[in-house]
Formats: sequence, structure tokens, C-alpha cells
Amino acid sequence: MKFIDLQKQYQVMKTEIDQAILGVLDTSNYILGEPVTELEKKLADFLNIKHCISCANGTDALLLPLIAKGIGEGDAVFVPNFTFFATAEVVSLRGATPIFVDVDENTFNINTQKLENTIKEVLTECKLNPAAVIPVDLFGLPAAHREISNIAHKYGLIVIEDGAQGFGGMINRKKACSFGDVATTSFFPSKPLGCYGDGGAMFTDDDSLADELRSLRKHGECNGHRYNHKRVGINSRLDSLQAAVLLVKLGAFQRYELDRRNELATLYTQKLADAVKTPIVPENYFSSWAQYTIKLKNREQRDYIKTELQERGIPTRVYYEKPLNRQEVYKGKLQFDKTFETTEKLCSQVLSLPMHPYLTNDEVDSICELIKSFV
Ligand SMILES: *Cc1c(COP(=O)(O)O)cnc(C)c1O
Repeated sequence: MKFIDLQKQYQVMKTEIDQAILGVLDTSNYILGEPVTELEKKLADFLNIKHCISCANGTDALLLPLIAKGIGEGDAVFVPNFTFFATAEVVSLRGATPIFVDVDENTFNINTQKLENTIKEVLTECKLNPAAVIPVDLFGLPAAHREISNIAHKYGLIVIEDGAQGFGGMINRKKACSFGDVATTSFFPSKPLGCYGDGGAMFTDDDSLADELRSLRKHGECNGHRYNHKRVGINSRLDSLQAAVLLVKLGAFQRYELDRRNELATLYTQKLADAVKTPIVPENYFSSWAQYTIKLKNREQRDYIKTELQERGIPTRVYYEKPLNRQEVYKGKLQFDKTFETTEKLCSQVLSLPMHPYLTNDEVDSICELIKSFV
């Protein structure tokens, strides 16, 4: 059994994907070609947002808005402490200061009360200028975007939604990757919508920000005027082959993959709810189930179950083993020296189970039976 079975997905879509790839080879227009334009349009339509600007990966998708907004040295950017490193990395790369915020124990997403408290703390206790917040839609569940935007705007911060894992999620039918002043996603192969390499995109309703991002992803080139540069940008473009693959996959994602992920999550929860803590999806929220993550009693039980499952050929993962504030790179460099109770607890309890649209009900059954026999 695979944790995420990309091979099986390819077998199902092989004819279409091969055709799409060969189509690009025929045109020899490899970077930002026709499929890229078509994909940007389809994604913007799907999310009901004005602009989609694709780029090379989900990390650049976070970096580019920080460049566009001039966020750098002296600025504080608030990020959840329980997420993939890239969310904080881009802040540090800009010379700005990541300020970690503990998460909610039910949703695993940034704790809004603690977010507001931390903003106040920065305002009173240090010289940094609170500039932005990057909420993450962790494991496919959108963060509490309405509350987050209210808090952010009250203190004059911009919101960059890190939707790398969020694509397909919703709150009250408003789609993930359409929240915040600008939102991002990643097309890394194992994300809910993945390509066959690296890829990413940014989404916004703001016309001038969209122009800026389009320029910044191409060396700061003036849009439509090649070799004329009005700012310093980077090289971060999506290639036509990836876009062609994504166009095929987006169709399947909309037609059945997203629904199937939700069916499987429901099945997992039905079978496991009595034995372990299953994921909580708040009312009016919809997850794209980038991960299906259970909580065990403690580290001993978690590690035991992980090993037992592994021995029976069932792969699981621990997202994430270590809070960002305890990463070596930030040792002795943090603004506030505090402990993050919920993040610490989650790091010792969480276990992500196999989750992809091609998992069978029988496979879920057998995974659940085993877990129940171990707890
Ligand atoms: C995967 C991921 C990223 C980075 O995306 P890449 O395409 O790998 O650069 C950023 N944030 C989160 C939360 C992610 O899971």
C-alpha cells in the first residue's frame, strides 16, 4: 500500500495525460505557454477569484507576495508554529522576523485568540512592525479566515493564505485559496492537486498586486516589455508540461477526486471514532483532506502504532515531528522565548494515515481494524 498512490492515479488518467504531454512537445513552447494561460484561467474560475498567477512552486508563491509588499527587515510576520517549514522560511529569507503562534487543538490551524494576543505583545514589547499574517490551511482544512482577516485588518496587517495543502477546501462554499489579500497554493506531486514536478500559484482580486506578481515572477520585467526591468524579481515560472498535466488532473479533481477524498475521510471517521481522536471539521467547513490525521494518547502509543502498521505494509507519516520554534535554524534567534503547549502536544500525538482518491473502502477497513486492535 502507498501513502499517496500517484502511480495508480496515473494509470487511471494515462491516455489523457500522455496526450497532454505530447501536445506540449509538439508546440515546443515550454515556459508559460498556452496550457499555462488556460490553467490560470480555469483555476481562477474554479476559485471564483479575479487573478491566478502561476509560479515555480508553493514556496515562491509565498515569497513573491512578501517581495511585492516590501516586507523585510524590521517587519514581524505571524505564522502558525505547526506547519511545514516553508511558511516561516520565506519570512526569514526576506530578512523579516517570523513570530510563531500556537494552533488550535481541534483544527490544527492558527489559534485566533493567541494570534491577537501575540500581535499585541509585539506592539508593546519590541520594535518590530507587525506587517502580515500567513495562516495555513493545514491538512486540507481552511483556517478561520474570517476571524483572522478581522484581526489582521484591525492592526493593519495583510493576510497571505498559505493554501499549499488547502486547494479544494471551503468555508460556507467560499473556496480555500481565495481568502486573504492574496492566497497561494502548491502543485508539489503529493498535494491535493499535484503536478509531475514543482509548481505553484498565487490568487488575488487585487489588479495592481496581480500585475506586480506577474512581473516579479519574471525578473521584474515590465509586463509586455521584454528585457525592460523596473524592479528586482526572481525566476519563478510554471512550465507548460506541468500545466498540461494539471489541466487533466484538475478535471478529475472536480469530477470525482475531491468527493472521493471526503467519502474516504467519512469512512475512516466512522470506523475509528470510538478508538482514537479523529479529525474535526467545524460546521460549514469543508476539507480537501490533504492528510487524514488522527491523534493518539501520547508519543509511546503513536510510535507503537506507526511501527506496527509499517510492519504490516501500511505506511503512515508524522506531520510534524518538531514545532518550528524549536528548529535549529531559529535557536537563540527568536523574539519571544515561549513554549507552545498545543503544538508540542500535537507533535507527539499526530499520525497521518494513507489518503488519496484511489484508496479502496476495503483498504480503509483493514487499516482501521488494525489500528483498533493496537489501541
Ligand atoms: C508544501 C508546502 C509548502 C511549499 O510548497 P512547495 O511547492 O513544496 O514549495 C508551503 N506551505 C505548506 C503548508 C506546505 O505544505
